Amino acid sequence: MKVVVALLVGFMAAGASYAGQARGGRGAQPPGPSVTVNGQTWTQQSLFQRNVGGPDDMTAPFPPHKVIGNIYYVGTKSLAVFLVVTPAGNILINSTYERNVPIIQKSIEQLGFKFSDTKILLGSHAHGDHQEADAMVKQMTGAQVMAMAEDVPALEAMKPGGKPHPIDRVLHDGDTVTLGGTTLTALLTPGHTRGCTTWTLKANEGGKTYDVAIIGSVGTNPGFKLVNNPEIPNQAAEYERAFKVLKALKVDVPLGSHPSMYNLDQKYPRIGKGPNPFVDPAGYKQEIELAEAMFRAVLAEQQKAAGQD
Ligand SMILES: [Zn+2]
Repeated sequence: MKVVVALLVGFMAAGASYAGQARGGRGAQPPGPSVTVNGQTWTQQSLFQRNVGGPDDMTAPFPPHKVIGNIYYVGTKSLAVFLVVTPAGNILINSTYERNVPIIQKSIEQLGFKFSDTKILLGSHAHGDHQEADAMVKQMTGAQVMAMAEDVPALEAMKPGGKPHPIDRVLHDGDTVTLGGTTLTALLTPGHTRGCTTWTLKANEGGKTYDVAIIGSVGTNPGFKLVNNPEIPNQAAEYERAFKVLKALKVDVPLGSHPSMYNLDQKYPRIGKGPNPFVDPAGYKQEIELAEAMFRAVLAEQQKAAGQD
């Protein structure tokens, strides 16, 4: 597969600060560097926009559906939420924004499950579009909230309406979370946030077992400062660790914190019409390849701007 990295003239403001929250606006962000992977060209800005969609997409309901085995999609158009159903109750992955909680609850009920059966709440990473509503979901369901140690400071700073962020169990790289016979493994895939977590689990369907991965994110958002960042001195090295982990994974069913990371729009219409469309090992590799190409282009641009080579 051909990867062409073309650095655009665009200069990223050295002091640009990042609010730590995905923004859906199409404001004054420069396009940033561009990459072409598998025949498609993306700029830093367009790839970010692909993930978050417009502001309405983050809060627009998406039809809830079964993904594979005991894994269901209960998220919005651009923010992925997964429900893992077990005989001992359910695991919810990503609470998203507080304003989305009624949509998540309704999606769970539409599938015939109960929101109140949510026993464990996990997250992809400490940005508001994925974990702002953790306290609200815990209040409503009593779920135990578990989070990667490296994301705890950022989560604790997330206090919608003044509510402290609940953390009942602190996880470390490789820790497992088990409920009702299903085990998820928390893999530290940092960079996007310091404790960004990729969840892996097995799904059984049609007598076969599939390796499922919910990619936390390896996106390089506009405004991220990879070079000379006093808050995260080795952020580029943290991304490198994530790519190493993700490239070593064998994945049959790629999922992600934003559904565009696994092309939900293209797969959803194919549900029930042939083989399970979510089984897509090639799609997993392509997504990681694209994210890595963008990371390297952004890093090269920022190193150049900082006078490094
Ligand atoms: Zn994020």
